[in-house]
Amino acid sequence: MGAKAGPKPASAVAPLDGTDVVRDAEKAIAIILFGSPGSGKGTQSKYLVEWLGIPQISTGDMLREHIRRGDAIGLAIADQLRAGSLVSDELVNQLVFERISEPDCSRGFILDGYPRTLAQAEEMMRLLAERGSSAGKSPRELVIHLVVDYNVIISRMSGRRVCPKCGTLYNSVSRPPKVEGICDLDGSTLAVRDDDREEVVRQRLAQYERQTRPLIEFFRATSDRLIEVDASREKPEAVFERIKSELPDLVRK
Ligand code: AMP
Repeated sequence: MGAKAGPKPASAVAPLDGTDVVRDAEKAIAIILFGSPGSGKGTQSKYLVEWLGIPQISTGDMLREHIRRGDAIGLAIADQLRAGSLVSDELVNQLVFERISEPDCSRGFILDGYPRTLAQAEEMMRLLAERGSSAGKSPRELVIHLVVDYNVIISRMSGRRVCPKCGTLYNSVSRPPKVEGICDLDGSTLAVRDDDREEVVRQRLAQYERQTRPLIEFFRATSDRLIEVDASREKPEAVFERIKSELPDLVRK
């Protein structure tokens, strides 16, 4: 159960079990994890999934899965992903729309890597409202902005490794595996994602600055449920503790 009761005010104590937060929320919650490539969205998403018991929706993972399967979508987008450029708004909007309509998203979901353009953000707000009108309760958006310094990102991303089997992310500096190059969970050999190569990282960051960072202004203007967390200095666990302590207030807002 949560640690809400006690001498301290509720806002000062993070509930131990986030499923309380989801259950007590008046509406379904749509958490938008916002931040540049390498800001730790994937890692924080995984913590949030475990804590809150709602699914992560990573557009990057969904797109990579199409490529892995070699289906028509995968064949059409493979070059774009390899080059670090964005795929079309129509495609990602459609993928997200279909995914959030699935039953496991009824209490809420975590969007990781979406929206990334103004057109996607506008469509997302429309989708959330529309989903509400058909399902009876429109999800309430909460934006978590992970703020990270440019140089920190470059050094972080060059040390990034992923397990090709279970998707767990590692980092040689901030989250090394127990045995170098091997996944702690299933023993697979860790890989460097194609789009984590340095020239692609620079291209992705330039694109983030151009097309995605401006969305923060959109969120500031359209939503008062926004928290900004410094994700440059602290370890991922400490960043998550910050999110845990602020999220319940955000849900109640
Ligand atoms: P990610 O794993 O979120 O960094 O995404 C990897 C790649 O997938 C990006 O560099 C883009 O090519 C593509 N991608 C992921 N999400 C989106 C999105 N919301 N809009 C357009 N392209 C995306």
